[in-house]
Amino acid sequence: MTNDDRISREIDIQTVVVNGLELANEMRDAMAKEVAALVGQGGRAPCLAVVLVGDDPASRSYIKGKQRACKRIGMDSRELLLAEATAEAELLAVIADLNADAGVDGILVQLPLPDAIDPNVVAEAVDPAKDVDALHPITAGKLLSGRADLISCTPLGIMAILDRCGVEIDGARAVVIGRSNIVGKPIAILLQQRHATVTVCHSHTRDLAQVCREADILVAATGRARMIKADWIKPGAAVMDVGVSEVDGKLVGDVDFDAALGVAAFITPSRRGIGPMTITMLLRNTLMAYRARTRS
Ligand code: NDP
Repeated sequence: MTNDDRISREIDIQTVVVNGLELANEMRDAMAKEVAALVGQGGRAPCLAVVLVGDDPASRSYIKGKQRACKRIGMDSRELLLAEATAEAELLAVIADLNADAGVDGILVQLPLPDAIDPNVVAEAVDPAKDVDALHPITAGKLLSGRADLISCTPLGIMAILDRCGVEIDGARAVVIGRSNIVGKPIAILLQQRHATVTVCHSHTRDLAQVCREADILVAATGRARMIKADWIKPGAAVMDVGVSEVDGKLVGDVDFDAALGVAAFITPSRRGIGPMTITMLLRNTLMAYRARTRS
């Protein structure tokens, strides 16, 4: 958006760029104290098992980040690295072992999986009590009926950011772009449960820009770099940009970030935005799974 456009729309908003890392660190510090107390009472530390099939560098880096985060708050983690050629049955056997292992509280199978493995079959193989990525149909069903303990990490992180920013959710018009099981669908349900009026958009949505302009809360989760232009954003909206793409070696979101400054009231950046909160909520789910399993 040019300056002239901005003037003609009479927008003069001091956009708050949300520091997701700061909030994440606060929450992790609180969880570190909880874990220390549990261990101090003679319990074992909660344990997250992460399974990676293949050697995709991005996935490797994600799981390293998850392990570091566990360590920082005193949680145990296990990393199971399986070859790219691993058969679905072999992966299911690994998951069955982790399900049966009393020392493991959370199981996360890093996505994407090789083409030969059906992610739905894998999601259904994880014990719902250890389903910290919240992809099992039982977990999803509990979310739908408002009874879930384990909730998808990115949507939980978005809700925590909105609350921290003091965004009024009750009665707000929320637009979610994306309908994946891991982001779009669960965030739409969470927003609706907090009494927002939610519209879910996707690649077949007509006049997406016009729908977005109605949003007090706009959640973008498409992975389409800078697709959302400044004039799609309602002045004063809270913009939660989940998408991550690489353009010319730089990480960018779904939203044209620079242009959105001065229009949105709140916006999450591609770095230090939603990402750290996603990992934090994975820790939160692992801690919850541990407490439920050990009744502590
Ligand atoms: P998916 O690819 O599973 O879903 C993308 C969604 O976007 C689909 O519903 C698709 O619609 C929709 N979409 C794609 N193109 C358009 C378009 N032009 N107009 C409208 N809708 C469109 O992705 P995920 O939900 O798994 O992830 C989304 C993005 O968020 C990715 O960039 C991912 O890397 C990032 N991500 C970031 C996380 C973080 O912690 N920061 C965590 C999780 C994801 P349709 O259903 O019709 O195909």
